[in-house]
Amino acid sequence: MRTVEDLLADVERRLRPLEVEVGEAWWESNTRSSDAAEARRTRAELALRELLADPDVFAEIRARRADTSLDASVTRRLDLLHDAFIAHQVPADVRRELVALETKVESTFNNFRGTIDGRRVDDNEILEVLRTSDDGPERRKAWEAAKSIGPEVADDVRALARLRNQAARDLGYRDHFALALATSELDEARLFATLDEVADATAAPFAAWKAELDTTVARRFDVAVTDLRPWHLDDPFFQAPPAAGAVSLDHLFDDADLEALTLRTYDGLGLDVRPVLTHSDLYARDGKSQHAFCIDVDRDGDVRVLCNVEPSERWMDTMLHEFGHAVYDRECDRALPWLLRGPAHALTTEGVAMLMGRLPRRPEWLTRVATIDDGEVDALRDQLADAQRAALLVFARWVLVMTNFERALYADPDADLDVLWWDLVERYQLVRRPEGRRAPDWAAKIHLAVVPVYYQNYLYGELFASQLETAITRRAGGFVDHREAGRFLADAVFAPGAAHRWDRLIERATGEPLTAAHLAADLAA
Ligand SMILES: [Zn+2]
Repeated sequence: MRTVEDLLADVERRLRPLEVEVGEAWWESNTRSSDAAEARRTRAELALRELLADPDVFAEIRARRADTSLDASVTRRLDLLHDAFIAHQVPADVRRELVALETKVESTFNNFRGTIDGRRVDDNEILEVLRTSDDGPERRKAWEAAKSIGPEVADDVRALARLRNQAARDLGYRDHFALALATSELDEARLFATLDEVADATAAPFAAWKAELDTTVARRFDVAVTDLRPWHLDDPFFQAPPAAGAVSLDHLFDDADLEALTLRTYDGLGLDVRPVLTHSDLYARDGKSQHAFCIDVDRDGDVRVLCNVEPSERWMDTMLHEFGHAVYDRECDRALPWLLRGPAHALTTEGVAMLMGRLPRRPEWLTRVATIDDGEVDALRDQLADAQRAALLVFARWVLVMTNFERALYADPDADLDVLWWDLVERYQLVRRPEGRRAPDWAAKIHLAVVPVYYQNYLYGELFASQLETAITRRAGGFVDHREAGRFLADAVFAPGAAHRWDRLIERATGEPLTAAHLAADLAA
């Protein structure tokens, strides 16, 4: 039998080009959608999954993991390979069907545009109406346009859930939800304990904040509080607080160059994003994904960001967020074995990205980086703190909807999900369902189809962001424009890549295990 080093070298040699091709094909299909691009992507995904499905390699990985005398780097690589391979140990026909369906649904999302009065509108236009219009019926049309993708994809999303479940059950898991957590180093009981903790910590402050918001919003639209409906909010999913419930910073970004501010923010930390900026695709176009993401194409420096930038606070937050992922990818120690390059876990890279995304609401960022006048920032100071707190509360309640919904989706993909969705929205977000609405509004959320069982990483990410900020401030004496802070992130978080499990990395970097305490402190502040 070959040595374990030979096994690892062989798998890496075969995996690496397939992963690079998936990255390139994924980028192409999201930036220049076409039949050829979709076909290339399907081909690339299948080739990668075929390797990950190889039963002989998987058996060898399993056998080698039993050896307790291996050094830490070898064990870690075997663990990562084990988790990457296990989910793909399914029959070839199921695998092919999964890839075809996933590609189809994502392509529908990329090409679909809702309509208002028969006119095609993109997501930015819908959000513009919800942000600015005082006309209830017009807002309702915009909100309905945002949900109109739901019926287009709902059957496929249910079919995906059934297929993913079938694959998971063949492997001995309860369903895909259980498998996805187990193979991403997350414990389901611990996750739901954390969710309960967050639900408890946010219930009262969120209810109080929401009641105040409702009064303000009802006055604006001249309706009773009981007549408020989801389209009276600025975000179709209520993932973020409306301007009325926080502070609108959009006017600060009217003439801003968001690209330049992103560069300036990272320069202030001594982190260079220029190589990423030159490879990125930042502005809206037809036939392009309307979302935002960062992709590390080759774990060797080719990192790209996709955005649809407009001069607004939301896009400033998103730019800093995505470039947070990018510096994490870029600053990993490239002397590490290829399999250990990149973030320790989705939740650690989300945490870094979220920490960066919070900056546009920090007074020191507004004065130093955005060069807003001291007086103006001072006048906003209390509102900024309220806005950050509101953003955390609203986002936490939204994650409770998503994660609980996703567990239920996989528990029974044929359940009455339309009703369940609104039950959760009413319970956690305190948003009333429209009378008589029967529509798969849940399916309009792209994550369910394309990035399944991922949302918990955003919540853990928020916990990590708060914990990380405490650690950074303690070590560097500040964050914005502190090169020490950037160096700490690079050395303690980015450089180790995936050499440690996420929980160990967090403990090493911050001096304590991941805890909800720092987020709770941010909410109490
Ligand atoms: Zn992210």
